[in-house]
Amino acid sequence: MEVKKMNRNAIYKFLYKREPLAIQEIAQSLNMSLPTVTQNIKELQERDLIIETGLFESTGGRKAKAITYNNHKYAIGLDITRNHVGIVLIDLRGKLLKNVRKKYPFVNSKSYFEGVGNLVKEFINECSIENSNILGVGIALPAILSADKQTVNYATVIDFRGGSVEAFCEFIPYPCILSNDANAAGFAELWNEEDVQDVVYLSLNNSVGGSIIIGKNVFSGQNQRSGEFGHMTIVPNGATCYCGQKGCVDVYCSAKILSDSTNGSIAEFFRLLRLGHQPQKALWEEYLNHLVLVINNLRMLYDCNVILGGYAGAYMDEYIELLRELVSKRNSFEVDGSYLHVCKYKLEATAVGAALQHVERFINSI
Ligand SMILES: [Zn+2]
Repeated sequence: MEVKKMNRNAIYKFLYKREPLAIQEIAQSLNMSLPTVTQNIKELQERDLIIETGLFESTGGRKAKAITYNNHKYAIGLDITRNHVGIVLIDLRGKLLKNVRKKYPFVNSKSYFEGVGNLVKEFINECSIENSNILGVGIALPAILSADKQTVNYATVIDFRGGSVEAFCEFIPYPCILSNDANAAGFAELWNEEDVQDVVYLSLNNSVGGSIIIGKNVFSGQNQRSGEFGHMTIVPNGATCYCGQKGCVDVYCSAKILSDSTNGSIAEFFRLLRLGHQPQKALWEEYLNHLVLVINNLRMLYDCNVILGGYAGAYMDEYIELLRELVSKRNSFEVDGSYLHVCKYKLEATAVGAALQHVERFINSI
């Protein structure tokens, strides 16, 4: 029974990552017998998990059927921040299909969670998707979670200490999974990336966070606090951080440092910077001085690709060559900064990553 399930799962995952294939190719690639693959394909088809998309051109004999997975399930993701709720709909592939962002300040009260439940139900209604095709709702929080991800151990950005997944579940009629916000965003960046196993994700949001992903898995650490890059010290006795310590990365590299000069709009900051405006130019130079230190430290620690994400990171495509040059100058071993990348999800990476938790669970359950 166990072997049977393993074979079925291997076939499904193989199809998930590829263009439509013929049964013969699947058997060959996975080193399984043709009858084993045929039997499993039949079963997966009966469960509506895979579909035939047509016939391949004949190479002499009978035309082979083209088989692929059925992209018919969806997941919802929430990005809960201090003042907003972002909601996304993704498909099984991880593609962002719909998103909204509403101003809805976090309050640790029943009426807040009821309100979030209503926003989710309203959003799903607008999506016109059958309830049975929704895998669940992933909820990303700016908080450190317990090892089982059921409760909140630490939260200062939102006042949700002692909170739990139950607070949301009560008003959301789908399975719910909690995620840490930066871990969710980092997870999204690696989804469907076949060749990258290890990555450090630096989240440059209104607070700085991050995620360490090793062998495609988020490294959690002893207390689920790994990747809290915002509280590494980069300036001894520097300015005071919201955590109470001095000289933390957060004080120098949060997106707020930039967007405070443009009424909170990071898009406007980068627009003015592009036009060569002061004080944006001066702020940016100062910001880069600190950011380069952080990036180089991460490269020295983990020796893997570093991805810049968050509100500020999403705008850094046009500065990536400059950033690579600056970080390479700091590096003791390397002459280029090709390890440095900008995030691929410019929009709602955190909510997408939260939703992907359900997709991953679904794929593993087959
Ligand atoms: Zn701090």
